Amino acid sequence: MSALNSATAYHYGACIDNEWIFLEKKFEVINPATEKAIATVADCGILETVQAIDAATKALASWSNTTAKERSEILNKWFQLIIQHKEEIATTLSKEQGKPLQEAIGEVVYGASFIEWFAEEAKRSYGETIPTPDFHKRLFTIKQPIGVVAAITPWNFPIAMVTRKLAPAIAAGCTVVLKPAEETPLSALLLMKLAIEAGLPKGVLNVITTSNAALVGDILTSHPAIKKISFTGSTAVGKLLMQQSSTTLKKLSLELGGNAPLIVFDDADIELAVKGTMISKFRNAGQTCVCANRVYVHKDIYLPFVEALQKEVEGLVVGDGLDAGVTIGPLINKEAKDKVRFLLLDALQKGAEMITGKELLDDDGLFCEPIVITNCTPSMELSKEEIFGPILAIYIFDKDEAVINLANNTPYGLAAYFFTQNINRCWKTMEQLQYGMIGINEGLISHPEAPFGGIKESGFGKEGGRYGLEEYLITKYVCLNTRQRGKEEYKSNTG
Ligand code: NAP
Repeated sequence: MSALNSATAYHYGACIDNEWIFLEKKFEVINPATEKAIATVADCGILETVQAIDAATKALASWSNTTAKERSEILNKWFQLIIQHKEEIATTLSKEQGKPLQEAIGEVVYGASFIEWFAEEAKRSYGETIPTPDFHKRLFTIKQPIGVVAAITPWNFPIAMVTRKLAPAIAAGCTVVLKPAEETPLSALLLMKLAIEAGLPKGVLNVITTSNAALVGDILTSHPAIKKISFTGSTAVGKLLMQQSSTTLKKLSLELGGNAPLIVFDDADIELAVKGTMISKFRNAGQTCVCANRVYVHKDIYLPFVEALQKEVEGLVVGDGLDAGVTIGPLINKEAKDKVRFLLLDALQKGAEMITGKELLDDDGLFCEPIVITNCTPSMELSKEEIFGPILAIYIFDKDEAVINLANNTPYGLAAYFFTQNINRCWKTMEQLQYGMIGINEGLISHPEAPFGGIKESGFGKEGGRYGLEEYLITKYVCLNTRQRGKEEYKSNTG
């Protein structure tokens, strides 16, 4: 097995029609742990974006006519290549994004699992026959690929957010133009390189790297050949893309921001609740859309819960993701650290108490030690928006109804978690929480088999599961008249 030789991908950057694009204009990719450049990639603009759309449009005719089995074979090969190269890909991922190597390997395997899953699911994109109300008619539906897809992805999961879109789109028979985040294009380029190796035909997948997301985004959302936009990122950008897409009325999937509540009821298994809180909050240094943003703890178990949690948090190790034993990498950039610092200071000024961690210092670079604060209240800014950093905010509650109201008091509706041993409370709480995904006694909920996605201002559309494939298919309804001309008269059409 040859080494991945990421140099080609790094050197060029964008890839259109399976050709690496060389551009004089480039931008740097920075390692957030060292704040030094690790690569420069092509800085694409209008010309390359239109070329990529044209390549995807040309490829659509043949790719959409392949059988699901043919597509599945290529996707399976791609999956296997990614798994074979998981350590190399994870090293690049860790360098450009900052997460600890073991976590990066986990993301590569998790990201690849979407390709494996959709390779199989594509074989099951069934239409249906519909019982007819008219003896002479036969009604049925077929599923077809929606067409050329534009995928725009964020930096926090540079592999998984990409494969969650590419796998179902390609499996469905669509072709794709991918625009990865400016901070993390390298992982996406490695995926592209392996896709070519797996035999993905020209134009089926095209990657546009750019430092001008607004420009490229404008073309992708207004170009008539693009039939679907799949976006993961902030709610503000999601709203903008929706507005821009309205002129050509594209189908949209928007996976946007969250503000996840995590409730620990008085009958919770404390060990389980601490474990769930740790994984939900501190994965990727707190930079996930499903991170527990507000942790509500019942007053009767507050002390033992906080004591056990503090012990776990003090065991976390901050550092360069490539160093052995590190469990918390740096934040992605200076803006991210400034935002976390602002939210922390605001909370402390409004009465929060820091029980573990220390101030966020500039000489720590982009690193941020995990911090636990208690006595949090709804008036604090971190109650209203995503922290996106390793600050764990704890609130005390007394009554079920009050905590559910507090948990729902946000425009977001992505993920929520709660811990209880009471089956009635499980059912009632699950039904009352206004979120697209619920973790019960569990802090890690995403799987390729399951529908990931939010409600309210966390967006719409699902990634994963059979719903994930539907996002890239159209349902064509067919009404067949079975009468033979000349033998019987046609009935007048009443429909
Ligand atoms: P972001 O600023 O919205 O960026 C996401 C992507 O959109 C990046 O590729 C970015 O490109 C691009 N972009 C930015 N402005 C654009 C524009 N005007 N037109 C077209 N594209 C544009 O979000 P982020 O800070 O990278 O990611 C963090 C956010 O993503 C958080 O809110 C998080 O909750 C959310 N997220 C949601 C999910 C989910 O499944 N719901 C999963 C992960 C993350 P550049 O990088 O080049 O600016």
